[in-house]
Amino acid sequence: MVERQLRARGIEDERVLAAMAAVPREAFVEENLRGRAYADSALPIAEEQTISQPWIVAAICQALELGGSELVLEVGTGSGYSAAVLARLADHVVSVDRHEALSRGAAEVLRSLAIGNVELVVGDGSLGVPGRAPYDAIACHATAPAPPPALLEQLVDGGRLVVPIAAEKADMLTLLRRDGERFERQEIAPCRFVPLIGEEGFSS
Ligand code: SAH
Repeated sequence: MVERQLRARGIEDERVLAAMAAVPREAFVEENLRGRAYADSALPIAEEQTISQPWIVAAICQALELGGSELVLEVGTGSGYSAAVLARLADHVVSVDRHEALSRGAAEVLRSLAIGNVELVVGDGSLGVPGRAPYDAIACHATAPAPPPALLEQLVDGGRLVVPIAAEKADMLTLLRRDGERFERQEIAPCRFVPLIGEEGFSS
């Protein structure tokens, strides 16, 4: 997976490649899908959601430019897989999902893997998690109509937000870097995610 799906397709941050190699993706998928755990695709999880394609998780992590000392906010815990990858790349991860059942499932897997630096929150992540802000980096794993203002506000100066933005054909994975009150915007790649359902996302 690391060589064929990631390195060959532009992931070159060695810390990201090592984290992707270390986290067992099969632990985060249902038993009947374990044979496809390293497939080059998203896979279904509970609540009609999906565990992201490995390349997308790696591309998001690479764009966040993590060195190991950061406080990271993740919106869209889902299975907990991407949180486990972020946990190896940063100091501490706050991960929020609107589905309590997913959050509970993710907590169990993270505990079984002895990953202790991920804090799970249930709620509307389109509003961020203001109580723990500001964040050095924010990863949003669900497509928003536009960069959610609350997430931009909860970044430190110089902080990075990666978020898929809805567009006519495909969604566009987008990086926003804070420079004072301005945000430098860069498109990473077309992608497809489930919608961000919430106050600063889409209505359900
Ligand atoms: N990163 C996950 C995949 C997440 S799929 C993994 O690796 O498994 C996107 C997730 O975003 C879903 O679990 C969905 O419940 C969640 N989501 C959608 N809108 C949300 C919102 N407003 N706040 C928090 N989570 C949200």
